[in-house]
Amino acid sequence: MSTETNTGNEKVSCLIIGSGPAGYTAAIYAARANMKPLLYQGIQPGGQLTITTEVENYPGYPEGIQGPEMMLDFEKQAARMGTDIRYGLATKVDFSGHPLKVQIDEEKWIEADSVIISTGASAKWLGIPSEQKLNGHGVSACAVCDGFFFKGKDVAIVGAGDTAAEEALYLSKLCNNVHMIVRRHEMRASKVMQDRVLKTSNIIIHWNAETDEVLGDKKVEGVRLLNNQTGEKCEIEVSAFFVAIGHQPNSDIFKGVLDMDEAGYIKTIPGTSKTNIAGVFASGDVQDKIYRQAVTAAGSGCMAALDAERYLGEAGLH
Ligand code: NDP
Repeated sequence: MSTETNTGNEKVSCLIIGSGPAGYTAAIYAARANMKPLLYQGIQPGGQLTITTEVENYPGYPEGIQGPEMMLDFEKQAARMGTDIRYGLATKVDFSGHPLKVQIDEEKWIEADSVIISTGASAKWLGIPSEQKLNGHGVSACAVCDGFFFKGKDVAIVGAGDTAAEEALYLSKLCNNVHMIVRRHEMRASKVMQDRVLKTSNIIIHWNAETDEVLGDKKVEGVRLLNNQTGEKCEIEVSAFFVAIGHQPNSDIFKGVLDMDEAGYIKTIPGTSKTNIAGVFASGDVQDKIYRQAVTAAGSGCMAALDAERYLGEAGLH
């Protein structure tokens, strides 16, 4: 439930920005605590899980579930508890005073006593047409989510940072061979992760290699590599192509306002969801570059709602 301020803006106790597992979980907790949350879904309602297929590692779904269906369940639960769920994108913020102000769709302003940011992150892609065409059909940006479907098969992973190293190691325990595609003659990953990758016998590293094309019509069947030193091309047979070239936190509108690391992840006080501004909390992938799982995002959404409730109580606003 919202009220109107004397500036004509809508005013709420708790505004949640984002509709992935973090945002909806925050909404469920905030609604049950009678904070009457208003949630704006952003341009991709349901978030990153709506572009994955089967989710098998979220507890409570013993048979697994399709990502989009799971996010509809999250939405229904948040709505049933009384969350006001709306389609709209937060385009600007003014956190210079209280109440906090958030602009939606470059038009209206919402005033809020507390704001929970759950805007997520977006996987970076190579941007080649075959990668796009086979997305969800063997092309994936999450080895932990989708690696299991390629048990015993040969797979490829592109990237050479800590994420790629970690995911290559994860895949090496499930798959037959893991072809790691590294565009330079060295890896960016930390030394310890590199050592582990280099010592794993079924990880085959292709140095100075770029992805020319992901092969296959309806599903991934291989990948064509281009050696950027020699200009030579070669094809390898694989059943899956994992992209692990980094993520981009969706935090642009908070730049210069909230404390962030150099990559744009919002900083929270360790062990809490509190940002550097009182009443503003962050949860999910926008503040987590390490775990990035639906279940950890949901957990941090719960933390944000509990932190917001405590804040409102202490400020005499709830
Ligand atoms: P990074 O930005 O660190 O690495 C991205 C990797 O992808 C680089 O090797 C980069 O190559 C490569 N890359 C980028 N674009 C392309 C492209 N178009 N084609 C081919 N390769 C490309 O991202 P990460 O997600 O790995 O890590 C992000 C942050 O999170 C880091 O600070 C990392 O340390 C941290 N992290 C920590 C973990 C942990 O502590 N357990 C686990 C995971 C992440 P190049 O090197 O040539 O630029």
